[in-house]
Amino acid sequence: MADYDVDLFIIGAGSGGVRAARIAAGYGAKVMLAEEFRVGGTCVIRGCVPKKLMVYASRFADAFADAEGFGWTLGSAAFDWSKLVAAKEKEITRLSAIYRANLEKAGITLIESRALVEDEHKVRLLADGRTISAKVILVATGAAPFLGPDVPGRELAITSNEIFDLKQQPKRILIVGGGYIAVEFGALLRRLGSEVTIALRGENILRGFDDDLRAALRDALSETGIVFKFENMPTRLEKKGEAISVTLAKGETLVVDQVLLATGRHPNTRGLGLEKLGVRLDGVGAVCVDPYSQSSVPSIYAVGDVTNRLALTPVAIREGHAFADTVFSGTARAIDHSNVPTAVFTTPELGTVGLTEAEARLKHAVVDVFQTQFRPLKATLSGRAEKVFMKIIVDGETDRVLGVHILGDDAGEMAQLLGIAVKMGATKADFDATTAVHPTSAEELVTLH
Ligand code: NDP
Repeated sequence: MADYDVDLFIIGAGSGGVRAARIAAGYGAKVMLAEEFRVGGTCVIRGCVPKKLMVYASRFADAFADAEGFGWTLGSAAFDWSKLVAAKEKEITRLSAIYRANLEKAGITLIESRALVEDEHKVRLLADGRTISAKVILVATGAAPFLGPDVPGRELAITSNEIFDLKQQPKRILIVGGGYIAVEFGALLRRLGSEVTIALRGENILRGFDDDLRAALRDALSETGIVFKFENMPTRLEKKGEAISVTLAKGETLVVDQVLLATGRHPNTRGLGLEKLGVRLDGVGAVCVDPYSQSSVPSIYAVGDVTNRLALTPVAIREGHAFADTVFSGTARAIDHSNVPTAVFTTPELGTVGLTEAEARLKHAVVDVFQTQFRPLKATLSGRAEKVFMKIIVDGETDRVLGVHILGDDAGEMAQLLGIAVKMGATKADFDATTAVHPTSAEELVTLH
């Protein structure tokens, strides 16, 4: 061990890197961590956390409108984008400082610099040119927005990196893509009053999610006024005064204040020096790893979005933790990527765990589907035309619940708890044997026949 400056050098202080650093240090490893931007990674600085704060902000619009049905009389409400951006900035600065303090408490050396891998045991710090030797190197550099499609004027568009800090709320925005980021920002900006158009290459949003939920969410978002342009991508962007004129493939032209590209994210491996060492990367540049997060070069590991396994923060945290257990505690621990619950924080919210109906039908001979659509109790007085949609997918041979899909208030919270049941192998009979909590929306999940 004495042959190396440190036991572990980590590149990237995001969710995966920070967890790995703290757990490894807890096992007595000497850890150094390099970060070129802000400590906390995408999730804390320009992802999940600020996005959810903006989602909360957007939902007040509904609360104000619904209050009248419950006897409230409110004055006029006004929303100030710059106040929200400032409040969000204060909170993520606080969180980033907590991350730093925790690293320091754990005895981890934080280096504010870009770091490049020089050989299988050496990392070079660009800030001061130093070379550090390490027994193990962990690449936890995350991912960055992929700028598709490559059309004239693409440089006029922004990505999710910039949207959180715009000086002004866009009055009119075109969002390109149909994944998590496109629909989440579309939904929240619409509720904050922006005119939102979403253009995508597919025939519906959220490919990979259950088809019934995709259709229900598309319809709900359309009802809020979001305009979808399916199979109709931009072909040209041009500056028009302060605005941007966008030509779409099917011929029409839109004039908007901002264009947000939300066409996926690609792993941050370019220029890191990995390929020349023989670290195997896949077609989009992700580090190929085994179930223990070890790359094709034995001293180099990778966790989180840079491996492109399942690009979700809690998955990166678990991968970072399992890596540190495997390498520094002597107990090898692989990560199980099955039945990971997830939520899309649109309004209405989508929560899901397990197989979609289509996936279940491919894998199982007999599939039973239980579903319901109903008006939640709150809507009776608010008058809001909202529907909750729930769907349980069951293996008809074993009665095991294979997947649960929900669209409606608190769907993400429900998905978290349903994740436990599905992970434990609960059967439909177990769901039925559970007494309802009344009156809730979730009670429908144990009374579905
Ligand atoms: P997604 O992978 O969710 O969606 C990408 C979208 O871009 C899809 O509609 C895809 O279309 C489209 N697309 C991809 N490549 C092209 C191309 N070359 N030309 C045109 N369209 C293209 O990515 P996001 O950027 O929305 O989010 C990145 C990741 O971040 C997510 O996958 C998720 O893992 C994570 N995330 C998680 C959140 C959460 O947990 N709530 C919130 C936000 C992000 P198609 O479907 O046809 O391939």
